[in-house]
Amino acid sequence: MSEFTKTLCPYCGVGCGLEVSPPAQHGKATNRDSQGTPIWRVRGDKAHPSSQGMVCVKGATIAESLDKNRLQYPMIRESLDQDFRRASWEEAFDLIAKRIQTVRFTQGPEAICMYGSGQFQTEDYYIAQKLMKGCLGSNNFDANSRLCMSSAVAGYIQSFGADGPPCCYEDLELTDCAFLIGTNTAECHPIIFNRLEKYRKKNRKVKLIVVDPRRTPTAENADLHLAIRPGTDIDLLNGIAHLLMRWNQIDVGFIDDCTSNFPAYAEVIRHYSPDVVAHRCGISVADLETAARYWGQSQRVLSMWSMGINQSSEGTAKVRTIINLHLMTGQIGKPGSGPFSLTGQPNAMGGREAGGLSHLLPGYRLVKNPQHRAEVENFWGLKPGQISSEQGMTAWDMITGLENGTVGLLWIAATNPAVSMPDLERTKKALLRSPFTIYQDAYYPTETSAYAHVLLPAAQWSEKTGVMTNSERRVTLCPAFRFPWWEAKADWEIFAEVGRRLGFTKEFAFANSAEVYAEFVQLTRDRPCDMTGMSHELLQTQGPTQWPFPSNNAESPVDTQHSKRLYTNLRFHTPDGRARFGAYHSRGLAEPPDPNYPFVLTTGRLYGHWHTQTRTGRIEKIRAMHPEPFIEIHPRDAASLGITDNQWLEVRSRRGKAKFPAKITKAIAPGTVFVPMHWGALWADEAEANALTHPESCPDSLQPELKACAVDLTPI
Ligand code: SF4
Repeated sequence: MSEFTKTLCPYCGVGCGLEVSPPAQHGKATNRDSQGTPIWRVRGDKAHPSSQGMVCVKGATIAESLDKNRLQYPMIRESLDQDFRRASWEEAFDLIAKRIQTVRFTQGPEAICMYGSGQFQTEDYYIAQKLMKGCLGSNNFDANSRLCMSSAVAGYIQSFGADGPPCCYEDLELTDCAFLIGTNTAECHPIIFNRLEKYRKKNRKVKLIVVDPRRTPTAENADLHLAIRPGTDIDLLNGIAHLLMRWNQIDVGFIDDCTSNFPAYAEVIRHYSPDVVAHRCGISVADLETAARYWGQSQRVLSMWSMGINQSSEGTAKVRTIINLHLMTGQIGKPGSGPFSLTGQPNAMGGREAGGLSHLLPGYRLVKNPQHRAEVENFWGLKPGQISSEQGMTAWDMITGLENGTVGLLWIAATNPAVSMPDLERTKKALLRSPFTIYQDAYYPTETSAYAHVLLPAAQWSEKTGVMTNSERRVTLCPAFRFPWWEAKADWEIFAEVGRRLGFTKEFAFANSAEVYAEFVQLTRDRPCDMTGMSHELLQTQGPTQWPFPSNNAESPVDTQHSKRLYTNLRFHTPDGRARFGAYHSRGLAEPPDPNYPFVLTTGRLYGHWHTQTRTGRIEKIRAMHPEPFIEIHPRDAASLGITDNQWLEVRSRRGKAKFPAKITKAIAPGTVFVPMHWGALWADEAEANALTHPESCPDSLQPELKACAVDLTPI
């Protein structure tokens, strides 16, 4: 038997397969970290179809983070100005159950909130939904995915009638033209970029268009880099559509047979002539025409995007405007083409399947749909009307709910909002007002633990068994390969125990996570994400598997062609089976620059770090790669401010300020500056990118515009 356990990298939504083995093996050298501590061996899993043995620096060094900075046992304090004291699980569970009951019967279930995470396994997500939305009757479960990909979810639902990325990674190696917009794939989804670049090296005719205000490592590899002004994505996309219409490079048959609302869209794009678009976007007409020509002349266009599109006050409109280009050219449902959102977190996709946002229910159902509520109530054995018909609070609603006293209990799990939320000073002040905050995490301290009344130690992915779904809808079983750290428990076990103490013993009578998963998949029956054929056992024997995977798949030879791509039959999940064009004019940035705040600040991620550094901040190799935060500024702007490289700048927005050393580079356009988002208060003084950002959100997805705000710069 192999000494290696197959699992999944728990960082990003690429979902690379890993193989891990214990530190000491007979006859083999022991792996050690830089302090000489023995660590688990990690290597890429060559048999994993998504990653084919590749890993980036985060996956390769994950073992170094396993035992660092861990929360060991429950801790409690009466108020935030006291020190924590050690508590037993018994005491912590008792206290939590009592507080939930008090809030439930004094303020109502709608005062109970849970803020979860794309780090959850699907079983964690599912039990949290059953507890919150089912048993307690509060739809106030939202996840940090709200800040990450909720615009993609809303865009898919509005255009196709259901969520779910239609493409697969194999499309990377079948496309004629990759159109990357609002994604620094080379740094943020490196293995996807590796696959694409390997293919392009062998197929020189394959074009790569990158749309990004920065000249990122992704853009450096492009055939065409369109460095548009921040907030002009819709102008650009409508401008490309205008040219395709003008050149008659549209698929009239597909538009007629498979779509609706094209006339309204055609009326909008009529206004986006090349000179208007080039002027608004700050690019040349020639470059705009080249982009349109690459689209029009390609048989198979694959567009990909992530935060640069989703984190926007018009995020859903941007997503739909990308999808429009695929609909007008018939580029969907066939190999090498389609609109493909790249998910940020390792299991944000599983969260979507399990209903892990405040407007969702398990199985890609919607809270506002009466039939969907009735189906879930019936399945859970609840009385009709138990699930609220109101959308629950989003992540930002919970912050404003703390401000206005409508939140009576906040339960935060596996995420670090004291770094990652917008308008951070306001967020922190709101967290200080919380009557009762439970913080459940594998790590301690974090920036958020300072705001908790109760700390609960959660088991890491390495210490519990569950599944995660990556961006190409591939589900991988992640078996526990270590004992839980000290007293840590799996997130789902913690939620289930609280549920039992609230009297829902039958609802949470699960012996293990395989039983949880078995129950969950039944709720996906006949839904777009049908995975009723999957089980822990099947995933163990068959390996990582894509959905849809209905139960009849498990009985017959697996038809992977059926699951690879969605919409191959060109029928969509809308009532009339047609995909809908969305007709949008560009609204631009929610906070454009002005004389008082003349620069646009854009935020992003670096190759080595993961989000708020809870893990990667403890890995020496990664710290050496990215030792400190910085602000990228164009030489022309640096000259006008009279600053030199590494000179410190104070950056002010309407909400807060931060300080960074300047990195003078032509990678950023004049008038725009860039700051990485990874540094919180634990790591650096006054270098929090989100001290500057604002919470203005997309009206459809309710995802905040974390990507851009107006700032002023002062040399210090
Ligand atoms: Fe992990 Fe993402 Fe890197 Fe793959 S690309 S090893 S999933 S961080």
